[in-house]
Amino acid sequence: MTIPYLRDISLKIRSSFDIKRKKGEFIGSFATYGYLKDSNDKNKLVVDKVASKVVEDIFKYRLEGLSADKIAKKLNNENVLSPMEYKKSIGINIGTNFKKKEKALWTAKAIFRILENPVYIGTLEQNKYTTPNHKIRKMVYVPKEERIVVENNHEPIISKETFKNVQKLMAIDTRIAPTQEKVYLLSGLINCAECGSNLVRKNNGTKEKPYIYYICNNARNKQGCIGSSIKSETIEEIVFETLKNHINSIISLQDIISMVNNTHYTIKEKERINKKIYIEKLELKKYQNIKLKLYEDLKTGILTEEEYKDFNFAYNEKILEIKKLICNLEKEIETLSNGISEKQLWIEYFKTYKNIKSLNRELVINLIDDIKIYNDKTVEINFKYEEQYKSLFSYLENISDLQVSCNG
Ligand SMILES: [Zn+2]
Repeated sequence: MTIPYLRDISLKIRSSFDIKRKKGEFIGSFATYGYLKDSNDKNKLVVDKVASKVVEDIFKYRLEGLSADKIAKKLNNENVLSPMEYKKSIGINIGTNFKKKEKALWTAKAIFRILENPVYIGTLEQNKYTTPNHKIRKMVYVPKEERIVVENNHEPIISKETFKNVQKLMAIDTRIAPTQEKVYLLSGLINCAECGSNLVRKNNGTKEKPYIYYICNNARNKQGCIGSSIKSETIEEIVFETLKNHINSIISLQDIISMVNNTHYTIKEKERINKKIYIEKLELKKYQNIKLKLYEDLKTGILTEEEYKDFNFAYNEKILEIKKLICNLEKEIETLSNGISEKQLWIEYFKTYKNIKSLNRELVINLIDDIKIYNDKTVEINFKYEEQYKSLFSYLENISDLQVSCNG
């Protein structure tokens, strides 16, 4: 037997929740660890100054190569309160289910939950779980596409870049986990350029005298690839040197950009356009004055109504045309000034890694997309922001051509 009245109420409550979710209002019972409910507006999330620092640390440790399990152990060793204990400590009542005497500790699962939660980049993702109807108590997992997601909903704790890198790192680590118990510096990033398969790490020597190398998984299993392999030491050295050079070249690009922005050509060009704008503004003033006079001429009877209308229309057209021209010239100036901005964010990103002394997992994951090894041992390293780098490079090349012809 169904009770329609009850079902109606449950549906209404659910749909009003949905509206709140779509508006980006937080309707969970507790704010996610790292956030607090706004005391003025319970539907809003604000950053918790204390817990957010722990969240930042967790993402940092993960990028440095610590596994979720190791992070949990580290936090427990340092007596950092687990989310549950923290809530208790700041007086949030977490219900009767948690009256256990023993202290709740950090677990790998809790760490994973934090590392995977987009709430920390300001995205509100709600209705992950739902109850199909009021009679069924079971929670059902809602597929990603059907969840209500509101981006830039509240202040982020973690940058989008860091979050993306951590997701990538976790995806790589799960992929390689079955074959290797430990994650090495370049694990999961080296591919065979011949067949696209992953390169696996092997020791061809002994425990005492190891000879570590990476080899195409397909070639090793004799599955039709002509194969690629490289000594671990060699590839790490190549990656380190190339990365160093790449960072330096990006930094020197930035120097060139600031030079180009102040060169003779740019300055002269701005002067020329500004002069044009000045002349056009004088023209504009002239026509605006003529229009005023037209009206006087109509008043004093020099012009008939008909003549006035015709002239007025023509001058209005002219004024509009000049205004458009001025607007375009101003845009040209703007392009010259901002055409390439010195503060391109991706450059700043690489710059944070200048003066690197050695490779580490964080550096490799943050700056490199992938590494390909060819059969002849050619190494291809694909850096992040390769497209931006190339387009900036060709832009600068064009500019320097221009300068030669102007100065020559
Ligand atoms: Zn291969």
